Amino acid sequence: MPIDATQAYDDQNIFAKILRGEIPATRLYDDDYAIAFPDIAPQAPTHILVIPKGAYVSWDDFSARASDAEIAGFVRAVGTVARDAGLVAPGYRLLANTGHDSHQEVPHLHVHIFAGRALGPMLA
Ligand code: IMP
Repeated sequence: MPIDATQAYDDQNIFAKILRGEIPATRLYDDDYAIAFPDIAPQAPTHILVIPKGAYVSWDDFSARASDAEIAGFVRAVGTVARDAGLVAPGYRLLANTGHDSHQEVPHLHVHIFAGRALGPMLA
């Protein structure tokens, strides 16, 4: 079910459990601000999720409340994950679903990285 992006943070969401190590995930990246792991249901040959370590429901919540250091750290982490995966030359797509109409399902901010094939024009 899509979430309401204005809801309060729920520390029982699945990505909070991954951050706490209560649910397994292969950490492709881990620093003070973010972790990255493969999406469990990949929609492209490469499909990676990058999430901030802080408790933020959505892109909206993060951009409004996170510190400048958290925002810089997270943005740099997304770029580093893509670079380290060799995605810059072939190219990649970023997506951060935010709220009900975007069909955001997990109420912890995540940026999808899609790559590994020609992705075609954006769907609106
Ligand atoms: P959203 O629709 O933007 O919220 O995307 C949520 C994503 O999380 C989907 O692509 C799911 O496949 C993915 N996902 C859900 N549970 C897990 C998990 O336990 N590990 C990795 N990815 C997950």
